[in-house]
Amino acid sequence: MKTYNVNEKGYYGEFGGAYIPEMLYPNVEELRQNYLKIMAEPEFQKEFNQLLKDYVGRPSPLYFAKRLSEKYNTKIYLKREDLNHTGAHKINNTIGQILMAKRLGKHRIIAETGAGQHGVATATVCALMGLECIVYMGEIDIARQAPNVARMKMLGAKVIPALSGSRTLKDATNEAIRDWINNPVDTHYIIGSVVGPHPYPDMVARFQSIVSEEIQWQLKKHEGKTKPDYVIACVGGGSNAAGAYYYFLDYDEVKLIAVEAAGLGIDSGESAATSVLGKEGIIHGSKTLLMQTNDGQIIEPYSISAGLDYPGVGPMHAHLYTSGRAEFISITDSEAMKAGLELCQLEGIIPAIESAHALAIFEQKTFKPDDIVVVSLSGRGDKDLETYINHFSL
Ligand SMILES: *Cc1c(COP(=O)(O)O)cnc(C)c1O
Repeated sequence: MKTYNVNEKGYYGEFGGAYIPEMLYPNVEELRQNYLKIMAEPEFQKEFNQLLKDYVGRPSPLYFAKRLSEKYNTKIYLKREDLNHTGAHKINNTIGQILMAKRLGKHRIIAETGAGQHGVATATVCALMGLECIVYMGEIDIARQAPNVARMKMLGAKVIPALSGSRTLKDATNEAIRDWINNPVDTHYIIGSVVGPHPYPDMVARFQSIVSEEIQWQLKKHEGKTKPDYVIACVGGGSNAAGAYYYFLDYDEVKLIAVEAAGLGIDSGESAATSVLGKEGIIHGSKTLLMQTNDGQIIEPYSISAGLDYPGVGPMHAHLYTSGRAEFISITDSEAMKAGLELCQLEGIIPAIESAHALAIFEQKTFKPDDIVVVSLSGRGDKDLETYINHFSL
């Protein structure tokens, strides 16, 4: 049977795999050999589900957005990941990975972060479990994301600046990989999206799959059926999208839409629409689509939303793009900001600017009145208040 899930070699079509330095091989191999076994253990499942319920606050509601639906003349449901503890979907993955780390006997956690959202989610679960937490972050990002740096410190994490290169996310990633090579026995590396060498994309997709697991039974209650006509999500690395798509991937009647950040415009040179603009290459240990120069140097991405500002896309999404299984649409900064403000005023929900990109789809594409459209509302907008204030001169 055709499937859009990972194969046993770690590939989605031609994308994925584990392109890593030899010195990292033992760490990644230990994880690869154990992750499915550990995830299948009843004790693991029990602890994971209990924490998702009592700590994260799951299930997150599937909310029928009545006024938004009226405006666009279709049935719009919002999957409210914004209501999770720490304000986004990222916590689903970090809870899963910290439990994985404990079962692998690790007591030191490393992570890299760009905007700081994944760093905060990682610091949170380390505090919860009493494990040492080291977060690598580019020096430039530390300066521009001060509130998240403060959060990580309050949660007990050590934030180490990456001083090389452009001093942003990719440099922080290099530092984290270097650390992991030097500390193979006691350290687990928590990656924050469906990126990285196999088995990370699959493991993270499985932890995030709780999102579409819930959508199925929640939609059944609302509409009497488990499958929507459309699932729409923004894509940075692609983890909230992977979670929202997961149980629908192999059902072609559920149409998938991935929304990327066009920044100032696809052709402006200031963009993060990585599938459309990307070429095949290797980033973060996996073969995927990424924005690169003709010499294979990574091009710095740009988006008004820090969470979509990633030069690549996870291998699952690269495959969904090239196979045509998902439709990819790019949304500019100003289109996203407008959609974000619209959600505030029609539904009383202030969305993360990442999620606002997904909402902007309704100005681009017309749906039928009886279409059931589920949008992943990946996070809340509190962290983006200053950007909203500056953009709208509030
Ligand atoms: C990090 C983040 C994203 C982008 O990451 P994905 O892995 O693509 O989901 C989207 N929305 C919010 C709120 C985020 O914090």
